[in-house]
Amino acid sequence: MESAQGVKTALKRIYGYEEFRPHQEEIVGHILDGRDGFVVMPTGGGKSLCFQLPAHMKPGTCVVVSPLISLMKDQVDAAAETGLRAACLNSTMSVGVQRDVLGALRSSQLDLLYVAPERFVVSDFVNSLQSAEVSFFAIDEAHCISEWGHDFRPDYAELSRLVPTFPGVAVTAFTATATPQVQRDIVARLALRRPFQVRASFDRPNLFYSVIPKARVESQILEFIHQHPEESGIIYRATRKAVDETTEFLRMNHVNIAPYHAGLLDRDRAINQEAFRRDDVRVVVATVAFGMGIDKPNVRWVVHGDLPKNLESYYQETGRAGRDGDPARCQLFFSPGDAAKIEYFISQSSDMNEQKRLRSLLRAMMDYARSNVCRRRTLLNYFGEEYEADTCGTCDVCQGGVKTVDASVDAQKILSAAIRSGQKFGAGHLVDIVTGSRSERIHRYQHEQLPTYGVGADKPRKYWKQLVGELESQKCLRRTNDQYPTLSVTRLGKDVMKGEKEFRILDVDVKRGTQATPTMPVLNAGDAALFEQLRDWRKKRADELDVPAYVVFGDRVLRHIAITKPGTQDELKRISGVGEHKCAKFGQDLLNLVRAWLDTHPEARTSLPQAGSTATAEGWPLAAATFQLTWQMFSNGMEPREIAEKRELATGTIISHLEKGVNQGCDFDLSKLVAPEVTSEVESIMNKLGDEKLGPVVEMGNGRFGYEEARIVRCLRNSVQAG
Ligand code: ADP
Ligand code: ZN
Repeated sequence: MESAQGVKTALKRIYGYEEFRPHQEEIVGHILDGRDGFVVMPTGGGKSLCFQLPAHMKPGTCVVVSPLISLMKDQVDAAAETGLRAACLNSTMSVGVQRDVLGALRSSQLDLLYVAPERFVVSDFVNSLQSAEVSFFAIDEAHCISEWGHDFRPDYAELSRLVPTFPGVAVTAFTATATPQVQRDIVARLALRRPFQVRASFDRPNLFYSVIPKARVESQILEFIHQHPEESGIIYRATRKAVDETTEFLRMNHVNIAPYHAGLLDRDRAINQEAFRRDDVRVVVATVAFGMGIDKPNVRWVVHGDLPKNLESYYQETGRAGRDGDPARCQLFFSPGDAAKIEYFISQSSDMNEQKRLRSLLRAMMDYARSNVCRRRTLLNYFGEEYEADTCGTCDVCQGGVKTVDASVDAQKILSAAIRSGQKFGAGHLVDIVTGSRSERIHRYQHEQLPTYGVGADKPRKYWKQLVGELESQKCLRRTNDQYPTLSVTRLGKDVMKGEKEFRILDVDVKRGTQATPTMPVLNAGDAALFEQLRDWRKKRADELDVPAYVVFGDRVLRHIAITKPGTQDELKRISGVGEHKCAKFGQDLLNLVRAWLDTHPEARTSLPQAGSTATAEGWPLAAATFQLTWQMFSNGMEPREIAEKRELATGTIISHLEKGVNQGCDFDLSKLVAPEVTSEVESIMNKLGDEKLGPVVEMGNGRFGYEEARIVRCLRNSVQAG
C-alpha cells in the first residue's frame, strides 16, 4: 500500500501541486485501497485528479466512463500533457485506431482509458476489458444514471451491470450535483459495495453572486461586458429568439461573440463551442443547451439575462464559471415578470403533481433572486448545507451592495389583510385589499369592510405585489403550490405583525451593480505585459498541438511566472501547476521567454514579488484585491472592527479575510485579538469536537464566545500546526 508521503510526492511530480484540495487525499487513499466509492464534489473541485492519480499509481488501466464523446479528446489531451498514458475509445474513431487502443490496453500500456457508457453494450468491448487488467472504474457525471437527477441518460442504465460483470473490480462514481436522494439512488443502481461516500461542500468560494433588477437587459449586458474587458464569459438567455437578438445587438456593438442553441446546425454549434474553448471568441450567448460540454477553466463570468427555472440549474450554469479557482462573477438580471412567464408554462402541464413540484422549485429560485439574504447561504441551504459564517463577503448582499429599508409597517398591513380575510386568498387579492380595489371579488366577500381595506392606497400595486413576494421569500407568508395558491401567515409573520420582529426589504432606489468585486491579483504594468506575452506563446503552442490553451498551462501558472520570473527549471517547478512532464516539454521555451524579457526590460529585475503572492499553494488566488486591502489595513495596525467599519463590511467578513491570509502564509499576529483564557477554552472544545464545523463549538461555549473568536482560534491552531 502507498504511504501518504508517496502520494504527496506523486502529486508534486506529476501535477506540480504542493497540496491536495479538500477531500482529494482521502478519496485517492480509498481508491488505492481498492474500495468502491461515491463522490459529490462541485465543479472545479478537482475530481479528475482523484481518479487520475491512483490510475497512475495502480498497476493496470483505470476505465473512465464519461458521457460526452466531444469532451473525451480534451480529457485525454490534458492527461497526456500531464504525462499520463491516456487514450479513449469511441464510435467516431476508425477501426484501425480502435484496434491500436485495445492493443495498448491488453499490453497494460495505459493508465487511463476513457469510454462512453454505450460501449458496455458491445460484447467485444466487454470481452476485451475482461481479458485486460482493469485497475478500477471511475464513473464521471454519475448523476446521469439516476432518474431523479436533472440529467438522466438512458445509456447510463447499462452501468448497473458493471459490478456483476466485473465483480473483482472496484467502482467509484463522481458527480458535481446530487441531492441526498439522488446520491442514494446512484449507489443503489450501481450496486456499490459498502462504498466510501464523500460529500464535499457545494460552496464555490471563488464565485461572486449578485442580482440586479432587470430593465432593458441587452444594454445592461453590454455594460457588464464593458466592465469586464478581455474576460471570457457566458450569457444565458431563456429562448432561442432571445439568444439571436442578444447576439445581434452585441455584434452591432462590436463584441466578439458567438451564439449557441439547439436551433443551430450541429456543425455551427460545434464551431462556436470550439472557438470559445480556444479563446477565439470571448463571449457565448446561449440557451441552457450550452451545457455539459464546457470544460473551459477560465470562464470569468456567467450572466443570466432571464430567470432560470430552478436553483439547481442556476447552480449548474453558474458553476461553469471559475473552474480554475480564480475569482469569477455570476450575475442574474431579475424581473418578476420572468417568473410569471415560467409560471404560465408550468400551468400548461396536465400533471398536477408535476405542476406542484415545478412551482416549488421556481419559488426557491425566486427566493434567491428577490430576498436580502446572503445569496451563498440561500444556495447552500437549498442543497441541504448550513452556511455558518455570518456573511460570505462575496455576494452583493454581504458586500452591502444591497441596501435595505425597514418595511415593517407595510408588511403588517399585508399580513393583517391575510389574517382578516381568513388566509384563503392569493397575492392579487391581498393587494386588492390594501390598495382599496373595487373589484367584484372584494365586494363579493365584503372585504371593503376590513380595517386594512385601502390603507395602502398611497403606493402603487406593483410595490405591494413585490412586498408580498418578499414576505414569502423571508418566510413570513407561506404559499400553497396549487395553480391558484393561497397565502397563510407563518409564526415568523405573526412576530412581524406584533412588531416583535423587524421586516426589511431591498431599497429599490439604490443604483446597484457598482460594488467592488473580487478581482485577480493586480499585476504591475510590466508583469502584465509579460503575462500577455506568455499568453501569446501559450496560444501558439496550443494551436500547434491542436489542444485548447488551458491544456498547456492555466492562467494562474502564467501569472505566477510573470510575477516570479523564474531563471531555472527548478524555480519553474516550484510554481504550483508545473509538473515534471510539462517542465520538460515547455520549460526551456518559458525560461527563454522570461530571459529575453528581462534583457529588454532590465528594470523588471528589481521588481519584487508582491506581498502574499508567494506562499499560496492553491484555493483562492494569490491575493484578490478585496483581501489584499484587508491585509494591508491589518498590517498597518488597524483592528478588524475598525477595518469593518471603514470598508462597510461585517467584522466576520474581515476575520475570514484574515483567516484566508493566514492559510496562504501571511504572517499576521491574530493572537492579540482573543483573550488568552477564551483561546484556551475554545481550544479545549475544539480538541474534543474537532474544528471543521464552528457551529457546535460555539454552541458548547454557551455564549462565552462567538463565531469570530472561534474562527480566530481555529486559524491560530492551523498556523501553529503548519509552522
Ligand atoms: P472538476 O472535474 O471537479 O470540475 P477538475 O478536475 O477539472 O475539476 O479540476 C479543476 C481545476 O483544478 C483544474 O484546473 C485542476 O488542474 C485544478 N486542480 C485540481 N486539483 C488541484 C490541486 N490539488 N492543487 C491545485 N490545483 C488543482
Ligand atoms: Zn453572502
